[in-house]
Amino acid sequence: MGRVLERPPAEASDDELRAWIGREYGEDGLKRLLASQECKPEASKHLSEFFTWFRRNFPYYHGHCERCMRVTHFLGVARPSDDERQEGGAGVSEVNFCEGCNVSSLFPRFRRVRPVLDTHRGRCGEYSWLALRFLEALGFPARWVDNHAGHAWVEAWVENRCGRWVHIDPCEAAVDDARSKHMDDAWSGNQMEVLVDSLAGNVDLQGT
Ligand SMILES: [Zn+2]
Repeated sequence: MGRVLERPPAEASDDELRAWIGREYGEDGLKRLLASQECKPEASKHLSEFFTWFRRNFPYYHGHCERCMRVTHFLGVARPSDDERQEGGAGVSEVNFCEGCNVSSLFPRFRRVRPVLDTHRGRCGEYSWLALRFLEALGFPARWVDNHAGHAWVEAWVENRCGRWVHIDPCEAAVDDARSKHMDDAWSGNQMEVLVDSLAGNVDLQGT
């Protein structure tokens, strides 16, 4: 998982992300989401529709070959290109090999949203960060959670009837879903880190 412990510089702006949502998800959908940050009983429903759409368009990347779609073998990691490091904040690239095509492919682990929006490739690290930035751009108080067990997700403060933090897992299109397989792990885990609001600080949620 690409862990994000502080906000990367040169991240996409809120305006840019709202424009992206309007273009890709639709202006009506964007309007519904923007209205949902107020005290609306249907806020969770609108978020759920958005993240269902998101997962269809941004599936979990399993490292398949782009030529033949077969599953590849993980060979190791390589240094990303200068552009991928500087523009995308990538620290490493995964190297995957397809035996059928006899070619290797690279999967840079980006830590900024623009290249993830462009490539539609990510796992929970990339997608949870993207989800956090979407929620912030839409006006939801939001926080990013890392359970230190290989998974990350986000939470948004949703007013609905009585405001509370709602669990959102973009990899599973789960919004406020108690059946989400990571929910139990999450809150019974020993240690978690949460990136709160616009600050780069991490908060240990243990005992809260
Ligand atoms: Zn192949």
